[in-house]
Amino acid sequence: MFHIGCHLSISGGFRAMAEQAVSIGANTMQFFTRNPRGGNAKALDTGDLAAFQEFAAENGIGVILAHASYTLNLCSADAKICAFARDTLADDISRMERIPGQLYNFHPGSHGGQGTENGIDFIAGALNSVLKAEQTTTVLLETMAGKGSEVGGSFSELRAIIDRVELSDKLGVCLDTCHVYDAGYDIVGGLDGVLEEFDAVIGLSKLRAIHLNDSKNPFASHKDRHEKIGLGSIGMAAFERIINHPALRELPFLLETPNEIPGYAEEIAALTLLRSKKHDEKFCAKVHIL
Ligand code: FE
Ligand code: FE
Ligand code: ZN
Repeated sequence: MFHIGCHLSISGGFRAMAEQAVSIGANTMQFFTRNPRGGNAKALDTGDLAAFQEFAAENGIGVILAHASYTLNLCSADAKICAFARDTLADDISRMERIPGQLYNFHPGSHGGQGTENGIDFIAGALNSVLKAEQTTTVLLETMAGKGSEVGGSFSELRAIIDRVELSDKLGVCLDTCHVYDAGYDIVGGLDGVLEEFDAVIGLSKLRAIHLNDSKNPFASHKDRHEKIGLGSIGMAAFERIINHPALRELPFLLETPNEIPGYAEEIAALTLLRSKKHDEKFCAKVHIL
């Protein structure tokens, strides 16, 4: 089954978000757990959560992905920011436990000049203090573009974090196509090789979600600026290979492209056609021009 969706607003609640997803052909979705600039999260509405779960079951919505605030930084050079990030992470996970068995994704963080090794230690330390044996939420480390002092721009850095976490079975990885391409993993010219490397360094069993974004910048630019699908340096042909790759095709694919709702609907429609008619050469040639 093709699990495809995009980043949506949770401002109207879970049920409204799921209805919007279905209205644009999505069967999964991503949302921010709280205002991206941080701060308190809205209290969860038990009735809304129940309505969401009922609607999700009726409409074939599978696993969904919560995304932490971009400001969450578990390896900041500022101890106060680290402590705040740790508390936020714990609160976010406990909120996600209200809808058991979902995914929660965060950016490993920026070490701010303390060095990658220290950054990895801080991130793993925070995870060790927050993860619980009984939690059903899988926490995903996102692959990063390697901008500035970002941790997670290489598969080996993510592996190092996972290795230092006791409850590592609660951890997975979310691969962002824009980020890995900007980081220097050639998913356009050598997707198989990149996935073999991922398997050798981290293990494909840890790969739990894909962020589908084209990139405004060239290969290995370490920039992290998302582009609409097919309009950037990655291109539609590479996305067709990504969504149909045997190692990836059962994972949830989430778009984080610079789009409003109609643009997301168009991308989901185009990708759905590339997925279901993947043997129809004539059709594929047509979609590649979009
Ligand atoms: Fe992200
Ligand atoms: Fe992403
Ligand atoms: Zn990004």
